[in-house]
Amino acid sequence: MRIDMLTLFPAMCEAVLSESIVGRARQEGLVTVECHDIRAYTLDIHRRVDDYPYGGGMGMLLQAQPIYDCFEAVCRAAGSRPHLIHLSPQGKVFTERRAVELSKMEHIAFLCGHYEGIDERVIEELVDEEISLGDFVLTGGELPALAVADAVLRLVPGVLADELSFTEESHFSGLLEYPQYTRPPVWHGREVPGVLLSGHHKNIADWRREQSLRRTMDRRPDLMESFVPDRLDQKLLEQIHAREKSKNRE
Ligand code: SAM
Repeated sequence: MRIDMLTLFPAMCEAVLSESIVGRARQEGLVTVECHDIRAYTLDIHRRVDDYPYGGGMGMLLQAQPIYDCFEAVCRAAGSRPHLIHLSPQGKVFTERRAVELSKMEHIAFLCGHYEGIDERVIEELVDEEISLGDFVLTGGELPALAVADAVLRLVPGVLADELSFTEESHFSGLLEYPQYTRPPVWHGREVPGVLLSGHHKNIADWRREQSLRRTMDRRPDLMESFVPDRLDQKLLEQIHAREKSKNRE
């Protein structure tokens, strides 16, 4: 997979994407990530890339020309036209499901806005999809682009050591992950649940699934509405409800 970042702050993106798991995957050639400075493509002699919005109002807007030329250069260098994602608080809110779909694409590019945003005409002409990180406003598209890139790149085969690393994690199966513990077995008087020390794999798997169901019901009941339980889940849900009922009777 190849990802291109179109940004006014390539060093900020490069710093994050050179570290840890993604940095290693790049070094090993599992993924290609390139960060491009939109400012390098301006035709303005003062290297300006922004201007006042027509009609008045607060702030400055990124102009169409440097973004268009930067994108053209990315397409030429890569030899393919990427699926272009504009990070925007007006986009569809990002989910793990979308991360899985994007991780199957060959080539993605992220367009990071700044200031008040971007001239609408270049969005209409180039952008395939708008993604939001949530219902809040950030100063720029770099942090959301990095978050989306990270969520996508970790799903590319080989980037994580083991596929179980993500299939068991929150949101992949529609549930939140179960609580996890590491050594020591007792810390500040708090004990690790006994079943996890038992070595009994089936009991551990059942306990974890039940904890996932409980957590999701408690913390994100909205996720349960679209969750499709299998037979084991149904049995565990019945047990949870029965226990809740008897607790309420006490
Ligand atoms: N004027 C825009 C509006 O009201 O929709 C907000 C512009 S924001 C200050 C500057 C840039 O930050 C945007 O162009 C976008 O790239 C990025 N941004 C801000 N909040 C975001 C969010 N929740 N999700 C994704 N990108 C965001």
